[in-house]
Formats: sequence, structure tokens, C-alpha cells
Amino acid sequence: MSLLIKLISASVSVANKAGSIIREIMRKGDLNIVDKGINDLQTEADRRAQRLIVSSLTKIFPKITIIGEEQLDANEASSDSLVTSFDNSVLTVKCPQEYVDIKDEDVVVWVDPLDGTSEYTQGLLDHVTVLIGVAVKGEAVAGVIHQPYYNYKLETDASKLGRTIWGMNGVGAFGINRKQPPEGKRIITTTRSHSSKAINDSIKAMNPDQVIEVGGAGHKVLLVIEGEAHAYIFPSPGCKKWDTCAPEALLRSIGGKLTDVFGNSYKYDSTVKHANDLGVLATYSAAVHDWYCNAIPEEVKINLLHKSNM
Ligand code: AMP
Ligand code: MG
Ligand code: MG
Repeated sequence: MSLLIKLISASVSVANKAGSIIREIMRKGDLNIVDKGINDLQTEADRRAQRLIVSSLTKIFPKITIIGEEQLDANEASSDSLVTSFDNSVLTVKCPQEYVDIKDEDVVVWVDPLDGTSEYTQGLLDHVTVLIGVAVKGEAVAGVIHQPYYNYKLETDASKLGRTIWGMNGVGAFGINRKQPPEGKRIITTTRSHSSKAINDSIKAMNPDQVIEVGGAGHKVLLVIEGEAHAYIFPSPGCKKWDTCAPEALLRSIGGKLTDVFGNSYKYDSTVKHANDLGVLATYSAAVHDWYCNAIPEEVKINLLHKSNM
């Protein structure tokens, strides 16, 4: 069994349990919110989910570097029992030849235990995702996106709530049906809680038919994959490597693309800067990516570049 397939399989299992923790904390209503900065919240669910994910994966893969969003006390153990099981459906997948001999030292796992925290605290529950991205030699190769409240407005059976999507470069994506967005239209999805003039100017320059303002990098990439939007536009700093690693890998696995505003992929080795200073641009198909890239005003790009060098 190849290391990567085992790692993705364990990540799917642990993401599912993280999702049930996120639901349990919301059900009990004790979010225990901490302010991390301007417009940047952390709840008990972010902390407990990260502890579970990092401790579980560390136990199975002690030599792999794992980087989580939340800065937590390293001495505080997970209060939940660790997940050491493997998702069987992933284990049946054949690892592409180029990744068969990957070593622990080549891998970095980027964990966003709860993406869309401000939406979570506001009850916009389907915006919430758990993101586990796997980078190999600095490249986003595989991603798990768990959406704990998928279908929560329609599904009355709590045991059927949520879904887990995973994808790997050279393998494809599972747990989601890819759909082409409507032809002859331009639908753009973007942030609802971290807007800026640069974002508004860029979207205006693209002359869209519709703009969908929702939370979460994971959630927006799912909208792109399911054909609800043609592109996810965020020409602004604020997104971090744990926000984009899993989404970037998942999109790539189905022929889409996620880059900075210049069309360059991000790097995900353990020494990179966590902030994605040059923004995020994600599209359903690599063929249309350049169009969106070129449509972002030059002034917006230059400002991002200038700020990132400060
Ligand atoms: P959003 O599209 O606003 O939901 O953002 C996607 C992800 O990037 C979330 O995890 C946000 O927390 C993060 N993010 C984006 N902009 C900022 C910002 N200005 N400050 C902190 N986090 C941000
Ligand atoms: Mg996030
Ligand atoms: Mg988060």
C-alpha cells in the first residue's frame, strides 16, 4: 500500500469524525469564541477538530509534517478518541506511478479544521468545511473536503448529514458530481465576510451575470466543481495555505485550476509563508483560467505584489 493512498484514506476517516465534532458543538451551543485578529474567529469546534485531526494523523504517520491553522497548546491532548481507521473506498484506489515511492519527508499535510468559521457562528452551516490537503515536494497533490452540514436543510435523518469529497492528481475526484457551469453566462463566487475594493473592482471588470457571496474557500471551490459558479475570485490577501491546499488539489484532479492572481500555482512545502499574499483565482476548467486572470485589473495585481514584498 502506498503512503499517499494510506494518508488520504486516514484523512477521509478523520475528516468525517471532525465533522461530527463540529455538529456536536453547534448542537450543544457552547462555541466559546476567541478573536484571533480583525475579522478572524476561532471556536471550540476549530480547536477540537484540529486536535483530533493532527493527533490522529501524527499517531499513524509520525514522520510526516502536519501544519494546522490554529495555534494550540502542544501539551493539550485531544479530548476525543483518536481515529486510526482507514476509509476502505480510498484503499481500493491504485496510486499513480509517479507517487508510488513518495517518502514521509516529501509530504506536508495542511489542515484547516473548520473553514468558514464566521459563517459557522452565524448559522450559515453549509458554508463550513473541513480541509485536509496533501502536498508532495511542495505541490498540492491530494485533497479532502468534508462538508458537515451538506444538505442540512433537506435531510431530516441526522445520520445522513454531510458528505466527504476527495481527489488526487492523476486519479480524479470522488463524492461529488462535476457539472459544467451554464454556457453563455458568467457566474462568480467570492467572499461574503472579507470583501475589499480590489475584489469589487476585479469582479466589476469581469462583468458577471451573477455574483454569489458565500463563506469558505472549500465551499466556494465545491460550487465551482458543481457548476454553480464559473470562477472563485479573491484578489486580496487573507487566505492561507491550509485554505487552498486541499481545494487546489481537488480542482486539479478534475481538470480545474487554482492559482494566485498571476496564474501561478502556490507552493506548499513546510518552509513557505502561510499567507497567500497574491490572492486566489479558481476556475472549473484550466482552459478558461487565463481569461479570468487577464480580466483582473493590472492595478489590483501590482498592489498585491507591492504589499506582498513589504
Ligand atoms: P472567505 O471567502 O472570506 O470565507 O475566506 C476564505 C478563507 O480565507 C477563510 O478561512 C477565511 O478565514 C480566510 N480569510 C480570507 N480573508 C481573510 C482575512 N482578511 N483575515 C483572515 N482570514 C481571512
Ligand atoms: Mg479557512
Ligand atoms: Mg479555519
